[in-house]
Order: sequence, then C-alpha cells, then structure tokens
Amino acid sequence: MAYTTTNPYTGEKLKTFPDATDQEVQTALTDAYEAFKAWRHVSFAERAKVMTKAAEILRRDIDKYARLLTLEMGKLYTEAKLETELSAEIFEYYAAHAERLLKPEILPVADPKEGKAMIVHQPQGIVFAVEPWNFPYYQIARIIAPQLSAGNTVLLKHASNVPQCAAAFDSLMQEAGLPKGAFRNLYAARHHTEVILNDPRVCGVALTGSEGAGAIVAGIAAKALKKSTMELGGADAFIVLEDADLEKTAKWAVFGRHWNAGQVCVSAKRMIVVDAVYDRFVELYKKGVAELKAGDPMDPTTTLAPLSSQKAADELAAQVEEAKKHGAVVETIGAPVPNDGAFFRPLLMTNLHKDNEARLWEFFGPVTQLYRAKDEADAIRIANDSPFGLGGSVFTQDTKRGVKVAEQIYTGMVYVNHPTMVKADLPFGGVARSGYGRELIGLGIKEFVNHKLIDVV
Ligand code: NAP
Repeated sequence: MAYTTTNPYTGEKLKTFPDATDQEVQTALTDAYEAFKAWRHVSFAERAKVMTKAAEILRRDIDKYARLLTLEMGKLYTEAKLETELSAEIFEYYAAHAERLLKPEILPVADPKEGKAMIVHQPQGIVFAVEPWNFPYYQIARIIAPQLSAGNTVLLKHASNVPQCAAAFDSLMQEAGLPKGAFRNLYAARHHTEVILNDPRVCGVALTGSEGAGAIVAGIAAKALKKSTMELGGADAFIVLEDADLEKTAKWAVFGRHWNAGQVCVSAKRMIVVDAVYDRFVELYKKGVAELKAGDPMDPTTTLAPLSSQKAADELAAQVEEAKKHGAVVETIGAPVPNDGAFFRPLLMTNLHKDNEARLWEFFGPVTQLYRAKDEADAIRIANDSPFGLGGSVFTQDTKRGVKVAEQIYTGMVYVNHPTMVKADLPFGGVARSGYGRELIGLGIKEFVNHKLIDVV
C-alpha cells in the first residue's frame, strides 16, 4: 500500500490506502467522460457557482483543511492556513474571469469583404493531473479551477504521502456541487499513468514534480500524442546588488529559503551577492537563519517546520555529503534541530566553483547555496549558470535597474525586491529543465482547450 499518511513531526504512520484497481481506473475514466459530455455545455455562470462554493467551503472549514496539511506533510499550521486561503482565491479568480478569458476572439482580416474569422476556445475532455506533496491543496486548485472552469474534467493522481489531502479535495468539490465524476481523486499506481494517457477520452496531462517524474510522464504523453504541461524543479537565484536595503533583503532571504521548510520549487535556493555587500549580507542572513525555531508545526511560535518525511531528510543529508565530495564547503547555522521528527538543520554551502557540479543541483530543504559575485554582470552570469529556469529575484533600491537585470535572467518569473511568490492572479511556470507550459491566469486556462478557428467566408 503506497498511499500512506505518516506524520513527519512524530513519525507516526497513521493510515494507509490501497492503490486503485484497474477496474476503478476504468470507472473513473468513464464517469469523467460522461461528466464531460454534459459539463462542457454548462454555462460559465453555472460553473462559476461551483468554484465560488468551493472557495466558501475552504474558508468556512479552514482549520480542518489546514490541520490536514500539517498532519500529512508537516507544514507550519500558519502556512497551511495561507495555502488554504490561496486555494480559495484561485477558485474565486476563475469564477470571476473564466468567461472573459475564454471569450471568442475575432481576428483582424486583411479584407473584411472576404468574410469573418474567429477563434473559439473549446474544452477537449479529461485532463490527468499528477501533483506533488509540497502544496497539496494549492497544486490541485491551480489545475482544477481553470480546467473545470473551461469545461474539461479532471482525474487526479496526488503524491503518495498526502492521500487524505487528496480525498479532502474530492469531497470539497462534491460538496461544492460539481457533477459526479467531473473531478476524482484516484490512488493510481504507476502503471495506470500509461493506461490513462492512452485512453482517447483523455486530452492531456499536467504534472508538477521532479525532473525525473516529468521526463517519464511527458514521454508517455508524447507517445500517446497527448499534450503535456510540466512544472518541474527549480534553483531560484536571489541576487543582492550593492544598493539593496540589506536589512530588508536579508529578512526576505531568510523567508525565501525557509518557508515550507525550504521545500518549494521557487525557494530562493541560490544567494548571489555582489562583493561590495557580501560580508554584511551574509552576517545578517546568518543571524536571521539562526533565529528560526524548529519545533511542533502546530505551535504558532515555530518558524522552521520538519521536512515532509524522514526519507526526505535522509536524502537531503546524503545529497549534501555528495556535494562535499565535489568540493562544497558547508557550515551549519543556528541551534541543533530536534532529533525526533524529520527536521533538517539549516546550512550554508559555498565553494560552488565551475568544476563543482553541486552548483547545478536543486536542494529541496534548508540548504543555501551562496555565491560571491564580482559585480552585477557576474551576478547575472551566475544566476544563468543553472539547468533550471523557474523563478528568481533581484534586490536593489533602483527598480529600473532591477527590471533590466530581471530581463537578463533566463527563467519564467523574476521578482524585483521580493522572493518568487505565488498568487492567484499571476502566472506560474518555467523554462529549460524547469519544464514548459504555464499555470494560472489566462495562460493556464488555455493550456488544454482547442483553439478552434471558425472562418465564415
Ligand atoms: P516527484 O517524486 O516527482 O512526485 C511528484 C508526483 O509525481 C507525485 O504524485 C508522484 O507520485 C508522481 N510520480 C513520480 N514518479 C512517477 C512516475 N514514474 N509515474 C507517474 N507518476 C509519478 O516529486 P517530489 O520529489 O515529491 O517533489 C519535489 C519536486 O517537485 C522538486 O523538484 C520540486 O522543485 C518540484 N516542484 C515543482 C513545482 C513547480 O510548479 N514547478 C512545484 C512544486 C514542486 P508518488 O508520490 O506516488 O511517487
């Protein structure tokens, strides 16, 4: 039984769930397609009612939803509430904007006497969603809110360590009034990916996760000639220029690297600091990290959560050892973390020179890769020396300069004076090995619709 709830703070294994049977997968596909045949014709206004209701329920029962996040993957309860709110905001965003975003577009034609051309955006069927555990609700919301609003239906395969979060969203959508089958959580086994993607009723797959999983699932989709979107790993640069407000910047750096215990695809993983302010910045940063308090994630005074599992903590420790073999130098920061629970003591990693391949790795936890850059141009060079291209940030009091630097960083998102963030009304996604496609806003809702040309001559 792969799907299991284990509390990462206590190590207690609480509940297991059997994998879906082949028959259950077939039933889910049939139900999802039957639902699609009706849902595709439901008006935007009716779909919006379901989205609005889902948001209302999340807000009404925020404590219940947030506790489940903390229980299954160890997130701080305060952050779990924010994630639940963010998920509600995503539903509300599409309730308000889906119809406008998918409005038919009249094309400007050279000679109007020759007729009228337009693009209509039509749903295509079932979207398969494969999601990770680090933001168990937000990841589901950002795929189902746009896809259901567009008239598609969705089957979910969530990460195996958050089965109750996945089930909670299944119940949420039923309570919100979504027709039976239009969204279903499946405890799918690995071999079901192929079965689902080869089914003609399925129009594509949206995966968020590691490069490894992305490459496998994108490969299966490609073979079945199905569209895929891939939201994969990241190693965001956090550039500090000499004119940055250092006190504020260091605070954002501490937050950017350590929220969600550092397990965010857009965590500020690589601090790149120009020489002129390097020493002062590092001093402030270390002071801030040392003040983090590891402990019970339900306790509001805790500021450093355990990792999602003991396995994740052990794998991160092994990865750090491997980096050391390549020449990385590490320094722990702050007090030792509790032995019980999947905690990881924050550390700073330096000596990530051009022959040290650890500079190219993503560390999914409180490990800070630190670089001293000669100047702005050198900082940009280091930022772009990465196989990933997800987010990034630049800190300077000259915002025009910040935008110019942002333009030179090869990623899908760059923030000036803020670590990469997630919001209901901003797009999300990357380039290079961070994947392809975009989630949220108009870009996300248009990923799995048919942009059909109708030309009236
Ligand atoms: P992961 O192992 O790739 O898991 C993600 C999802 O893919 C899970 O549901 C997992 O199921 C499934 N999966 C894995 N291998 C699969 C396969 N061969 N066939 C079908 N499904 C498969 O990801 P993770 O290591 O838990 O998550 C961390 C990674 O995700 C990091 O690299 C992080 O940067 C990235 N991430 C990216 C974003 C983004 O938006 N770009 C957001 C969050 C996280 P099981 O749990 O059953 O293995």
